[in-house]
This record gives sequence, structure tokens and C-alpha cells, in this order.
Amino acid sequence: MDVALPDPHVGGGGGKKDLASAETSNNTSSQRPRVYQVWRGSNVFFLQGRLIFGPDVNSVFLTIFLIVVPASLFCIFVARKLIDDFSYRAGISVVVIFVAFVFYDLALLLLISGRDPGIIPRNKYPPEPDSYDGLSDGPQTPSVRIPRMKEVRVNGIMVKVKYCDTCMLYRPPRCSHCSICNNCVQNFDHHCPWVGQCIGLRNYRFFFMFVFSTTLMCIYVFAFSWVYIIRIMHSEETTIWKAMTKTPTSVVLIIYTFLSVWFVGGLTIFHLYLISNNQTTYENFRYRYEGRTNPHDIGIFGNFKGVFFSSIPPSKNNFRALVSEEDPNLLVGGEFSRPNMGRAVKDLELGRKASWSEASTGYAMHARHCNDEGDKDAEIDEGVSSSSDIPESFADIQTRQ
Ligand SMILES: [Zn+2]
Ligand SMILES: [Zn+2]
Repeated sequence: MDVALPDPHVGGGGGKKDLASAETSNNTSSQRPRVYQVWRGSNVFFLQGRLIFGPDVNSVFLTIFLIVVPASLFCIFVARKLIDDFSYRAGISVVVIFVAFVFYDLALLLLISGRDPGIIPRNKYPPEPDSYDGLSDGPQTPSVRIPRMKEVRVNGIMVKVKYCDTCMLYRPPRCSHCSICNNCVQNFDHHCPWVGQCIGLRNYRFFFMFVFSTTLMCIYVFAFSWVYIIRIMHSEETTIWKAMTKTPTSVVLIIYTFLSVWFVGGLTIFHLYLISNNQTTYENFRYRYEGRTNPHDIGIFGNFKGVFFSSIPPSKNNFRALVSEEDPNLLVGGEFSRPNMGRAVKDLELGRKASWSEASTGYAMHARHCNDEGDKDAEIDEGVSSSSDIPESFADIQTRQ
């Protein structure tokens, strides 16, 4: 039943990238590890589990480069020259406002990419199945069937939720399993390769603010680069073309920001549209509400309020907590597994998965797709579903509020 084993686990356990693992090397092997040290997702941790990034964390440095380099060029070759041209206070404020803007933008970037986007902790065991279907298969092979989907009520509308084989839980409404990070994320919007992190319940607000402020920064640099060219033109009583040759940096910045603003400006407008309808990018790309009512849409005012003026729920994970002594994933032969014995942990997990999947052979191929692809099938599939009111654990994520 190998086909039933979800691929993402290849990167789990022993494959976990832990940049801070060196600090644990001095610990004795009997010490309990911390959650981030035995984390099953593909995340990368910094500062001993205080910061969590996606596996593509390196792309953050590219994004920082693409902001800081043109920003520095603007300060040195354009804004600094404008200090002399304007009256003193106006000139200096062009620089001060811009530098503050850059730091604000970078702070937003860190808030997006270095924190828990809304990861739902994995279950240690599959949930108790609602029914045992042992009668038809004979007494020797009792078949345990966990329904692939369940229906829960969101704002009075029944919504299907799908079971995640990797995390062994029913994904709450709007939750999806990120195939890159290998985690179920609440209000999953998308995995952003520019920030190297999932965009979800806990960082969507910062993501929008980042995209919007980057758009404003582009417009700012574009405008003041033109101002500088025009001031050269007037002060030297020359043509605009000759003025442009005197400040090639301004020309480069004008072209760079002109191209960039289509991307970040377009994203800003797209997300303004999504927020006004209370949709995620993921839902929009799947046309999830085509011809159907979006149960999360509570009116444009309420939707914006939900994104920008609601409190961000605390993380469901404590990455620095010591792993509990009863944790079945870690307790092997009376000792805790260390990340370097992740193989034992993985084997335990595979064993459990295999027996579980044997009992549900009908789901074998489906289990491979505990990610975006699987959801598409789930949307169409009108398979087994058990109806229930929204469980307590789902209550806090019915809508962005
Ligand atoms: Zn999952
Ligand atoms: Zn992700």
C-alpha cells in the first residue's frame, strides 16, 4: 500500500531543515527536544525556533535585495541631491519619509515571512472514525472508514471540509495544505515565493500592507526621480533628454519602478477586490464560489473590517515548547528521538499510515494529493460526507474576523 503514503513525508522528520540545530549538539541525548527540532513540516527555523520561515526562505533575501538596492541608489543619487535644491526642510523630509518607508516595508516583510502564518498542528493519531464498516468485509478484515469529507455549517451555509492525510485532521473551512511548507494553514491564501512563506490567517493583513506600501514606494521613487530630472532641466536651461543624461540613476529608477508598479500595483488592486468579496486567492483561482453563495462574505464593510481591524489570533503552535513526554512520535525504547534519529520517527509514522491506508484502500490514490491537487477533486467529488454543526475548533476561523 505504498501508494497511500503521502509524498510530503519524504521531507518530514529527518529531512527537516533546522539551521539552529548546532546549538543542540551540546545537549545530552536524554534531554527532551523542542517542538521546532522535531517539526514535521518543511519549515526553516531561526533563533532557536523564534522565527519560522518556509523552505524557500532564501527568496526573502532576494526580495530584500530588490528593495534595498534601488532604495539606496535613490537616497544617494536622487533624494540627497534634492536636499540642496528644495528649501531645507522640504528637501530633508523627502529623504526622512523615504527611509522610514523602507524600514516600515522591511518590518512588514519580516512579520509576513518570519512568523506562523496560521499552521494547524498535526494530530498524533487519526481521529476516531464515525463508523466501523466491518460487516461486508468479513470479520478478519474490519475496515475502518474515515469519511474523506465532512460538512460543517458556516454562517448558516453547509460547507464541505476535507480530511488531510498528512496532518490527520479535518481541515477547517478555508484551510488548505501547503504542498511547499507541508502544513495545513488556516485561511490559506497562497504560498508566496517572494516572501518564502504561506500567506494565511495570521499574516494576510501584513501581506496586503506590504504589497500596498511597496506600490506607494514605487510611485514615490518614480515621482521624485522625475522631479530631479525636471529640476536639472530648469536649473541648467537644457532639454529633458540632456537632463536625463546628467542623472542616469534617475532614469534607471524610473524604468525599474515603472515595471515594478505593474506587479505590486496589480497585486494591490487584485487583493482589494478579493478582500471586498472576502475570498482568498486560492478560492478565487479555484472559482470556488461560482454560482454559489460565499458564506464568508459579510458585506464589503464587514469584510474590510475583518481583515484590517480584527485581532490576529494567537499561534496554535509553540515551537519552543519541550515535546511532551507522552508524545508517541518521540518515545522510542524509553528515550526521546533526536532529529538525527528521525528515521525511527518516520518509520513509526509510516507504520501507522500503512495500517490506516490498508483499511481505506479506496482512498489510496487520493492520499497522495494532500495538497492543492487533491482539493480540486474534493470540490467535484460528492462522496461520503457526514453532516455536523461546526466544531468548536472551527469556530474561530469561520470568517476573517
Ligand atoms: Zn495538512
Ligand atoms: Zn507554504
